[in-house]
Amino acid sequence: MEKMNDKLQNTAKELLENKEVNLIIGFTKGSNPLRMRSVFITDPNDVSKLSFNAHCVQDLAVFLKKPEVKKFGKIGLVVKGCDEKAVNTLIQEYQLSRDNIKIIGVECRGAVKQNLADKGEDSVKQSTVYDKCLVCEVHTPLLYDYLVESDEPAFEINGDIKPYAKIEELDAMSVEDRNMFWQKEFEKCIKCYACRQACPLCYCTRCIVEKNTPQWIETNIEETGNAQWNMIRAYHLSGRCIGCGECERACPVNIPLMLVNEKMARDVFEKFGYKSGVDINAKPVFGTFDANDFNEFIK
Ligand code: SF4
Ligand code: SF4
Ligand code: SF4
Repeated sequence: MEKMNDKLQNTAKELLENKEVNLIIGFTKGSNPLRMRSVFITDPNDVSKLSFNAHCVQDLAVFLKKPEVKKFGKIGLVVKGCDEKAVNTLIQEYQLSRDNIKIIGVECRGAVKQNLADKGEDSVKQSTVYDKCLVCEVHTPLLYDYLVESDEPAFEINGDIKPYAKIEELDAMSVEDRNMFWQKEFEKCIKCYACRQACPLCYCTRCIVEKNTPQWIETNIEETGNAQWNMIRAYHLSGRCIGCGECERACPVNIPLMLVNEKMARDVFEKFGYKSGVDINAKPVFGTFDANDFNEFIK
């Protein structure tokens, strides 16, 4: 069978040579093989730079919102299952035309946590992967134009795994204690907005935090404004967040943002039976209504 990286490179070369895309966005080796970074390729002779392994954690769909990328028109994107949900959501929200994207799906066995990779850890197993990989339902993207299969075997999950277990712990707390927990976490926020920049679905051309007539959110680092910023961002992502975990990975002060995102996603599924980014033909859950809704005000 053709090796994974050969197939990836051949697919990209063909797409560029046939002018089906003007730009390929994928992964390449970073400062060491355990640190992969994004790469932008326009020349078919450069496709040998493309590579994929368990350290390709970044959600490359984040680049699709950038004007510098949009100007290329037709784009080929290397996409893991979780990233594909971001692509799907962008299509659902009319931010991306399906005709302008070639999805090069890669079968992903799991992403090794960056801090462990920095310590030289290379193997994909239960103890080394991100929480999102333990609940992953999409190791193979559901929607793709090309599929590059993995050379690696799937890792096994043993025992009763409870990713994001802290959510249940928080749910069981009193409102006061839960509030205290989040107050302490949000106190750490330095308003760097890295979470927003890393998010493929935070694409507003002017973010509410930058509006100052009136100033809705305090831009200084202080208690109320910090909480407002984090809660407003969470609400703006509710029913949309696809759980890629990039915001939490980008946060320099380690605020556990995925606890908020995952909790929101679970509530949206429980109340509306909706999972973000799974179906490009589905109406976004908060972009539609049902005349039979149990709430009177909707009628
Ligand atoms: S969530 Fe799934 S697709 Fe995404 S990195 Fe983890 S294993 Fe791969
Ligand atoms: S809020 Fe975080 S987890 Fe959700 S889509 Fe944005 S970066 Fe990914
Ligand atoms: S990345 Fe972290 S510190 Fe920066 S604005 Fe977001 S939550 Fe605050």
